[in-house]
Amino acid sequence: MVDSLLNFSIAMSASDTPLLPMNFCSDCGQPVSLVIPPDDNRLRHVCGHCGTIHYQNPKMVVGSIPFWQADERVLLCRRAIEPRHGFWTLPAGFMENSETTEEAAARETLEEAGARIELQGLFSLLNVPHVHQVHLFYRAQLLDLDYAAGTESLEVKLFREEEIPWDEIAFPTVSQTLKLFFDDLKAHREGRPFGFHSHDIRKRMRA
Ligand code: ZN
Repeated sequence: MVDSLLNFSIAMSASDTPLLPMNFCSDCGQPVSLVIPPDDNRLRHVCGHCGTIHYQNPKMVVGSIPFWQADERVLLCRRAIEPRHGFWTLPAGFMENSETTEEAAARETLEEAGARIELQGLFSLLNVPHVHQVHLFYRAQLLDLDYAAGTESLEVKLFREEEIPWDEIAFPTVSQTLKLFFDDLKAHREGRPFGFHSHDIRKRMRA
C-alpha cells in the first residue's frame, strides 16, 4: 500500500502547492512526501512509513459584531498580538474543536473583549482562499458595558460609524463586515431587516 502510494510521488516542494509545509508525520515521526494518493487529484503530504495521508483544509475564523443599541456603537479590539499588532478588529478567532460557530463567536468576544453578548444571527461569510480561511461574523447585542481588554487586546472601545478608524482596521474581512453592517443599519432604521452577506476576498492583506 505504502509503496504503491509512493509510486505516484512527484518531485515538488510545498511551495508549488497551496499546502502549508510539513516535513515529518505527526503520527509516527517519519518523513512525509508530496504525493497524489490513488483516487485523489491533489498533492497531499503522505507518510512513507505508516501511510497516513495528512489532509489540509481551510480553517474557520468566527467572531461577532458587538453592538450597543442605545447610541449605535460597535465594540472593537486593538490587537496585542501579531499579525497586525496595534490595529483594530472585531473580536474573532479560530474555531475550536467540539464547539459550534455560535459558541466560538461568544467565546472569542468574551476572551478578547471581556464582553457578554446575545447573538442575533449570522451576518457575513468571507472566503479568504489565499490564506486558507473562511471568516464568519454574527450580529450581537452587548448585554452591558462592563467590557475589558483580554490578553490578546491592548484596548477595547465602542465606536460610532463616523469614529471607526478605517485606516487602522487589521483585516479586510473586518473592514468589509463593518461597512456592510453600517449600510444595513441605515436600512434597518427605515424598517428593513439586516441581511446576510457572502463575499470572496482574494487580494492579499497589506504587509
Ligand atoms: Zn507516519
